[in-house]
Amino acid sequence: MAAPRVEIDLDKIHHNAQELVTRLAKRGISVTGVTKATLGSIDYAHTLTHAGVGVLGDSRIESIKEMRLPRNGELGIRVPMTLLRSPMLSQIEQVVMYADMSCNTELEVIRSLSVEAQKQNHIQQVLLMVELGDLREGIMPDDLLDTVAQVLKLPNIKLKGIGTNLACRSGVSPDSANMAKLSELADLVEATFDLTLDVVSGGNSANIQWALDDPQTDIGRINDLRLGESVLLGCEALHREPISGLYADAITLVAEIIESKLKPTVAEGSIAQSAFGETQLSIDRGLIKQAILAVGVQDIDPDGLLAPDGISILGASSDHLIIESIKDELSVGDEVIFQLDYSALLRAMTSPFVSTVFLQHKASQMLH
Ligand SMILES: *Cc1c(COP(=O)(O)O)cnc(C)c1O
Repeated sequence: MAAPRVEIDLDKIHHNAQELVTRLAKRGISVTGVTKATLGSIDYAHTLTHAGVGVLGDSRIESIKEMRLPRNGELGIRVPMTLLRSPMLSQIEQVVMYADMSCNTELEVIRSLSVEAQKQNHIQQVLLMVELGDLREGIMPDDLLDTVAQVLKLPNIKLKGIGTNLACRSGVSPDSANMAKLSELADLVEATFDLTLDVVSGGNSANIQWALDDPQTDIGRINDLRLGESVLLGCEALHREPISGLYADAITLVAEIIESKLKPTVAEGSIAQSAFGETQLSIDRGLIKQAILAVGVQDIDPDGLLAPDGISILGASSDHLIIESIKDELSVGDEVIFQLDYSALLRAMTSPFVSTVFLQHKASQMLH
């Protein structure tokens, strides 16, 4: 099989998604399944919907379009899809055409959605994102009521709800204070304008501990979480703790050995910068079993790889990953399987040199 490749075990993904859907449902929270790390893979999307995920989200309209359109006799995805990133003004036409809803923070963009939705004779849904401290996207809480007042005047726009996103830029943790603030804002919008917000979206995989760890936690009005990493990697996103009962190895990176030799541990010659600026200092351990894998910084984040037992990662350059085998002799042509963190996964999925292979054992899940 082609190497390097990312292998995605869809049975494990199905299990992870179903577990999160079930556990969060007990807390009154539904899951928006986030497809962006798979670049909008239709196989991944189908697996999520079969596991009980009712809405899909992606940050790129190109990927939403890809999942929506039927291909090679296969049906496109029919569940509602949300564009998670505020639409570019230059893509409004496609947003109205392919996404049911978008996350929004700018009135100018929502006005443009309204104009386009009228043209396409269609009602476009909007989720207003509120800034609650992480300083990425969001309307400042004090401006929310004014913004809602303006949005409600716009033809062919339906205000579906409000949401927030934490932990992505500054690492701000979702907690009882900021989640209560979002609930309060939802109540305030409803009371002020005499309407119902269907969706109050509390965040992403960084919200898992807040939502699930303590059954006493007051979930308030939060009824949706947008989950990518927790389904893919089986961990929450604040401390990267594994989520009990979920697979952490649904996704692996397989790379192939192109050189295997006994080499010294200490470099020889006068030492300046390496390919990426850093200088390596190592302790002399004599000769070691060193091997090179045909994968590099172009394809993965070497710091985000977890090597199998008996192998350690020594370094990486653009196209080479250098490893040491503590136990076995490795041969040219052998494959080594790594686990990836989110950053390594993103880079692998976007590298044109890394292929993606979906593994599926339970045939029943293929029924669309
Ligand atoms: C990427 C993204 C998510 C999903 O984040 P995970 O940590 O992968 O669960 C949720 N919401 C928004 C706005 C995003 O951009």
